[in-house]
Amino acid sequence: MNACNVVQEKLSAYLDGELTQQEGQKVDVHLRDCDRCRSVFEDFRRLRADIKDLEYPEPSEAEWSNVMAGFTFKATRGLGWLLWAGGAVVLVIYGIYAFATDPAVKAFERVAVLAIILGVVLVFLTVLAERLKSYGHDKYKDVEK
Ligand SMILES: [Zn+2]
Repeated sequence: MNACNVVQEKLSAYLDGELTQQEGQKVDVHLRDCDRCRSVFEDFRRLRADIKDLEYPEPSEAEWSNVMAGFTFKATRGLGWLLWAGGAVVLVIYGIYAFATDPAVKAFERVAVLAIILGVVLVFLTVLAERLKSYGHDKYKDVEK
């Protein structure tokens, strides 16, 4: 067994820092002098690094902050929509209530405006129903494929 084989057999332990100081120094010296073993060592080290990455695919700090920013953005936008929709609904309901109970409004005006509001609500509901229906269809199509 020549020196190269001895060194190459120890590379794994060398990478893990499991060699004695003396053995490690021998490997060091040999790697410095021997191109062939150095290239084997580099391949070996790269392979080990790849395997480590596969076993522990830890996201980098930049990736993490991207993910967190995504969550924050979505949560903030969701809250924004909730506040917007909630406030709008309260205002509309209050407006309808105030209008329907306002004694100054003539009866036919009240009926006409309530009819318009009812019409808008019905259109909105049909659009919503269409949306939900086509969403369900899309889902079904995906399942069929
Ligand atoms: Zn060698």
